[in-house]
Amino acid sequence: MLGTLRKIVQEVNAAKDLKAALGIIVLRVREAMGSQVCSVYLLDPESDRFVLMATEGLNKKAIGKVSMAHNEGLVGLVGSREEPLNLEHASEHPRYRYFAETGEERYASFLGAPIIHHRRVMGVLVIQQKERRQFDEGEEAFLVTMSAQLAGVIAHAEATGSIRGFGRQGKGIQETRFLGIAGAPGAAVGSAVVVLPPADLDVVPDKHIEDIPAELALFEAALEAVRADMRALSQKLSSQMRKEELALFDVYLMMLDDSALGGEVAAVIRTGQWAQGALRQVVSNHIARFEMMDDDYLRERASDIKDIGRRLLGNLQKAHKQALTYPERTILVSEELTPAMLGEVPEGRLAGMVSVLGSSNSHVAILARAMGIPTVMGAVDLPYSKVDGIELIVDGTRGEIITNPGKVLREQYLQLAEQERQLSAGLDVLRELPCETTDGHRIPLWVNTGLLADVVRAQERGAEGVGLYRTEVPFMIKERFPSEKEQMAIYREQLQAFHPLPVTMRTLDIGGDKSLPYFPIKEENPFLGWRGIRVTLDHPEIFLLQIRAMLKASVGLNNLRILLPMISGTRELEESLHLIHRAIGEVRDEGMDVQVPPVGVMIEVPAAVYLTRELARQVDFISVGSNDLTQYLLAVDRNNPRVADLYDYLHPAVLEALQRIVKEAHEEGRPVSICGEMAGDPAAAMLLLAMGFDSLSMNATNLPRVKWLLRQISMQTAKDLLARVMTIDSPEVTHATVQLTLRNLGLDKLTNPSAAV
Ligand code: PEP
Ligand code: MG
Repeated sequence: MLGTLRKIVQEVNAAKDLKAALGIIVLRVREAMGSQVCSVYLLDPESDRFVLMATEGLNKKAIGKVSMAHNEGLVGLVGSREEPLNLEHASEHPRYRYFAETGEERYASFLGAPIIHHRRVMGVLVIQQKERRQFDEGEEAFLVTMSAQLAGVIAHAEATGSIRGFGRQGKGIQETRFLGIAGAPGAAVGSAVVVLPPADLDVVPDKHIEDIPAELALFEAALEAVRADMRALSQKLSSQMRKEELALFDVYLMMLDDSALGGEVAAVIRTGQWAQGALRQVVSNHIARFEMMDDDYLRERASDIKDIGRRLLGNLQKAHKQALTYPERTILVSEELTPAMLGEVPEGRLAGMVSVLGSSNSHVAILARAMGIPTVMGAVDLPYSKVDGIELIVDGTRGEIITNPGKVLREQYLQLAEQERQLSAGLDVLRELPCETTDGHRIPLWVNTGLLADVVRAQERGAEGVGLYRTEVPFMIKERFPSEKEQMAIYREQLQAFHPLPVTMRTLDIGGDKSLPYFPIKEENPFLGWRGIRVTLDHPEIFLLQIRAMLKASVGLNNLRILLPMISGTRELEESLHLIHRAIGEVRDEGMDVQVPPVGVMIEVPAAVYLTRELARQVDFISVGSNDLTQYLLAVDRNNPRVADLYDYLHPAVLEALQRIVKEAHEEGRPVSICGEMAGDPAAAMLLLAMGFDSLSMNATNLPRVKWLLRQISMQTAKDLLARVMTIDSPEVTHATVQLTLRNLGLDKLTNPSAAV
């Protein structure tokens, strides 16, 4: 059963468009289930009717003509109830509707399953049979499984068509919207540049090329390079391998031949496809064919083809990387954006970003917000590999991407981008003003930094210190661990730039979604795994070196504060403090006059919330990491777009935890700050002020917005709102209450997402 299912899905996946995909579905499902009819009805969003899109067994002339509303026929019933329907005699059911065009009166039994993708009913998959019989449980389960698997495939095929400007029936359409998650606010209009992780054939996009001979020459060079590698490898291994095993290399060389894979790829290039796209097409067709074979040996050959494909791609990518051009208004698109990818775009050209994976609290989204680049994350339905070179609108406030934008919409978005620019410019006047409420409460606003570019932005916006310097960022853009001297230079730059204001440097926080290319951590459950302090305590040489570099960088400046991430108990803290004191001793032994810097602990693991007192007693300050704290308290992966709706720092449990932390830290006489993204949300900042946080640390982009709002309200207003919010048990009601309060105060212009389009 599983094998059949897998084969069908693979075949459908390889189909060239939606029509072909549906054709394969009805043919193969009918075959697999031994029924006489299999049909697919898809919900047409315009007419809101289920339209017959493909059938085997019914009259094909009815395709595209027969359709049903939600309250019509058995198909409408399956679609509206979102449940399978299994009938021995369909025509006896009160909802049965007869369509003469289909010829379905010949079929008695009916089994229909809804096709649902991300909670949205996309259509209905139906099988029918002549004899009167109830389909058995196994058959029902098969159809339900089939339609669940096909939902994603159909959504993908449909989206691909719409990107090329075609609707379901092949007619031209415009402005397809793809929903994602708001990653970094703002709007951008620009040209998509798809960036790929190295040598991953599955994600290579299609691209049209003009200069076919040049592309063929490129491919020929890649072939020759791989042939040379193969010969060299075969030579090298000849003394260690048996003759039969060495024959594998001959097979590889044969596959690269003009009469085999090499020739097939060249043929696709001649149709105007770039070499990488042609290679993907040919290799994936071969792999699909091999993987469908029942013979284990032959199935295994798929891995040889994959290997050859990867090698060829590696060579092509090397050549391509040198030639990659970024247009004036680049929209960077990738399956999974990484900080390194951002770094490759020349300055001033990055207009927007789209990532298929990841969520608003992924680190790349945090970086995007810091840089003020409109970004959509978790765009799972966007066939991103097909968008290279086309114009896109990125609405980072709503979390939407629009392909094929019409003239009017394009204009509206360009205007919106301009309005946003003016709004930010308008807030510049706040730069020199303190963050003070109308009744005289001062709260320092600090920035979170990582890249060097953040320093300039932070200074332009009048930050009063650095509440979180993510030291892993400079580590991530290197090719090896930076040396003590290199680190010292980077840290000194930060400390000097803000001197005499405090700079809070967090020790290396890798793991989770932050990996170093030269120190890979592969885990089943990375957010619950080897992360942050757990890694550095296991590698004291890395930790000590980093602390020494920080201490040395601070000599004569003395504005360093050290912050420890992911602490979940006192033992980790004690071990860290011990190492910090050891580093101080070592640096002093080298003859340097270093002061003992204030040391703080991050509260971002639920265990630490309940240990606030014990932790606070041993450190100089507390800093809450609301990003991780929210993820761990709510058990919602901050990186997973599927559960992004559940991630909410205004959840009552998170607010309770925050209040408790502030109270207990203060009872121990320690100041408490917050450096998660929550602090940069003006509405949330109002609640944090009322809770008694001593400072708020946020990205430089949001700092003026938070300052603007806090300068308009009184502490009493914030406290009243907090008191009301703390009695609410639902995050949705909390959001509405906060929004309404701001509206009543006439202060919702910054917190109400772009209402203009
Ligand atoms: C946090 O978890 O809130 C935090 C500030 O750290 P990071 O986002 O870098 O994990
Ligand atoms: Mg964190």
